[in-house]
Amino acid sequence: MSDKDSLTHNTFAPSNKELIRAAFAAAQCAYAPYSHFHVGAALLSANNRLFTGCNIENAAFSPSNCAERTAFFKAISEGIQDFKKIAIVCYHDHDKPEFCTPCGVCLQVMSEFCREDFEVIVAKDENTYQSYLLSDLLPHAFSFTKKESNKA
Ligand SMILES: [Zn+2]
Repeated sequence: MSDKDSLTHNTFAPSNKELIRAAFAAAQCAYAPYSHFHVGAALLSANNRLFTGCNIENAAFSPSNCAERTAFFKAISEGIQDFKKIAIVCYHDHDKPEFCTPCGVCLQVMSEFCREDFEVIVAKDENTYQSYLLSDLLPHAFSFTKKESNKA
C-alpha cells in the first residue's frame, strides 16, 4: 500500500473504545458558548477512515451545526459516502457525560447516506455505551425514493 493509499483506506477498523475516545477528543473542540452543551462525534467509513465532528453554535442559533453533521459533512466533502458506525458523546460544561442520541435533523442526514443497519453508539465513557441501529432511531425516514431501490 502506497502512502497515498494509506490516506484513503485503513486496513484495521478502530474499536468502539477508540471511536468513543475520538468522540471525546472532538467534543473538546465544541463551540458551545450558548448551550454549554459539548458534543463530539466520531464517524467510521466503510473503508475504515475516521471523521470527527463537534457542535458549532452561532449567536443567530439557526446557523448552528451538530457534531454528527459536522462529521458527516467532513467525510462527504472528502468523497466518502459509505459508513459503518458513529460514536457520540456529550456533556454540559463540567458535568459528567450523559447518553445523547442524535437529533432528528442529524438522523435524517444519516438516513441519506446510511443503510438501516448503520450503528449509532452513544457513550458515557469508553466502557459505558449503548448501541442502536439507525432504523431504531428513525424508523420512517423521509425519502423521495424507496430505500430498497437506492441502497445496497
Ligand atoms: Zn443533530
